[in-house]
Amino acid sequence: MAMKVAIIGAGCSGLAAIKCCLEEGLDPTCFEKSDDIGGLWKYSEMVEEGRASIYQSVFTNTSKEMMCYSDFPMPEDFPVYLHHSKILEYLHLYAEHFDLLKYIQCQTEVCQVTKSPHFSKTGQWEVLTKKNGTEKKEYFDAVLVCNGHHVDHYLPLESFPGIQKFKGRYIHSRFYKKSEHYQGKNVLVVGIGNSAGDISVEISSKAKQVYLSTRQGTWVVSRISHHGYPIDMALATRFFFWISNLLPANLFNKMNEKHMSSWFDHENYGLEPENRSFFKEPIVNDYLPSQILCGAIKVKPNISTFTETSVIFEDGSVVEDLDAVIFATGYSISFPFLEDSVIRVDNNKVALYKNVFPLSHEKPTMAFLGLVQPLGSLLAVSEIQARWATQVFKVLVTLSSRKSNCYNAITVLSSLNSFGRGRFQTLQTFFISYMDEIAVEIGVRPNIVVLFLKEPSLAWNVFFGPCTPYQYRLTGPGKWSGARKAILTQWNRTLSPAKTRVVQRLTESQSKTKEIIILFGLATAILSCVYYIVFTAQHALWS
Ligand code: FAD
Ligand code: NAP
Repeated sequence: MAMKVAIIGAGCSGLAAIKCCLEEGLDPTCFEKSDDIGGLWKYSEMVEEGRASIYQSVFTNTSKEMMCYSDFPMPEDFPVYLHHSKILEYLHLYAEHFDLLKYIQCQTEVCQVTKSPHFSKTGQWEVLTKKNGTEKKEYFDAVLVCNGHHVDHYLPLESFPGIQKFKGRYIHSRFYKKSEHYQGKNVLVVGIGNSAGDISVEISSKAKQVYLSTRQGTWVVSRISHHGYPIDMALATRFFFWISNLLPANLFNKMNEKHMSSWFDHENYGLEPENRSFFKEPIVNDYLPSQILCGAIKVKPNISTFTETSVIFEDGSVVEDLDAVIFATGYSISFPFLEDSVIRVDNNKVALYKNVFPLSHEKPTMAFLGLVQPLGSLLAVSEIQARWATQVFKVLVTLSSRKSNCYNAITVLSSLNSFGRGRFQTLQTFFISYMDEIAVEIGVRPNIVVLFLKEPSLAWNVFFGPCTPYQYRLTGPGKWSGARKAILTQWNRTLSPAKTRVVQRLTESQSKTKEIIILFGLATAILSCVYYIVFTAQHALWS
């Protein structure tokens, strides 16, 4: 009988989980507490308890070729960066294509997951669900936790003295939906993650003045790289990754900083990060620098205190008549359905082997998907984690380094070295290094040397081109016959959606004809001049 797997959540991680279970011949049941699939990408006007909430204007900060599942490219006519509604459309296309919907039980909340009485023998879990007020208990052989980590908003009010006295309106960015409430107001946005960047820019077109307070600054990059290519496709290449691995961390950071400052000097805009010994994840925002330049957004340092109507910053400057504050201060990891004995979250840190398998379980029958903050697409990461987890459940692969008790060593160390130890750095990883680490576990990392010998043009694209998820379907278990073509055509799908006006360029033969006509014209002009000079000279001699 097939192993029964419970999947908690039908966002992009949960959908990948169902698909991977089916690929491995497992029997998945996905529980989704809301009324539909999509998770964070299912926008609603109302904030729903226990589900991520986004604002109406969210566009992705990862491009469509990097953000798709590895065997399901996005439709060619989808734009390169997508409105949240398009991602939801894509997730529906994926679910329909692979016939996943019948495995999902919507409006069913997972209330509790506990080890079964014979866990150490069977590795089974007892899952308690609730639907329309009715509770149900079921046993599963394995559990995939896909509940997302942008749900539980982090708002440390104790860090903002005087906020209780403040008479204006203050909210966390989770509750921000549209800019209309901020018309003509003085608004302070706190934090400088992607939420703070997006929201301050959006409000700045309506508000009287927007202030953006950051305690340590950040790098800002545009979605558009040199020659108009998407920045993630331009930078997330194996070639760049290989070079960066050869360099000392300091030099690597300096090179990155230079690249990020080539757009605008971050110091002049008050944005430059303070602690430069670690790599600070950049935010993606095309409009923030121009709104600062236009004076619509003023960057301020950390907050010292609030009064009833104003805010005082650490540099002593004051903003009077403040109407509203939006705290874009991020999120906390939480698993309300799991006891501490199953998994403990300690200051936003979770002890997981390669961010997936809990360290303390006797049997690896529970895995966490999407609990990573990669410098790239989370969707691709969740999918490869799902491929790995399902193979571990089936005991097709084992967690080798578990035995030597060096759980998490690679991930934790590389993250600590590169990103620092703060609350917000616990999940950060580099995209290619993390994807490759998991790919090695399941034998799907492309072998570039072999590929160069077999098919140089494909190898060239894999090594020098963007590390799109299709690369992890070229070989090994789960190999997809369309992967090669998807890689060779990825730039077509990227460039074609913007070409909505066909620019009439001369064809090669037309431009050759044009060149011949010009040359012929020039020759005629020169001959005419010579003829004229000779004719005039002769005429002068004869007369
Ligand atoms: P979610 O999308 O949060 O889905 C979790 C699902 O689990 C939800 O449907 C929820 O209802 C369900 N659930 C939770 N608890 C239970 C329970 N107890 N019982 C049953 N169901 C439950 N990533 C990118 O790669 N690119 C981007 O451009 C990008 N933009 C982002 C923009 C914003 C504003 C935010 C906040 C995040 C963004 N991310 C982006 C990261 C984003 O979190 C991931 O892309 C992705 O949505 C995570 O998917 P998930 O399935 O892991 O979690
Ligand atoms: P985030 O990236 O975690 O950023 C939180 C910010 O709050 C940080 O700048 C942090 O400052 C600041 N902060 C936290 N505590 C603070 C305190 N006590 N005082 C002052 N500042 C404090 O959160 P987010 O911006 O909401 O983003 C969450 C995730 O969603 C990220 O993965 C992001 O990429 C994604 N996202 C994507 C988009 C998009 O695609 N368009 C939009 C929004 C969000 P420090 O830096 O100083 O720690």
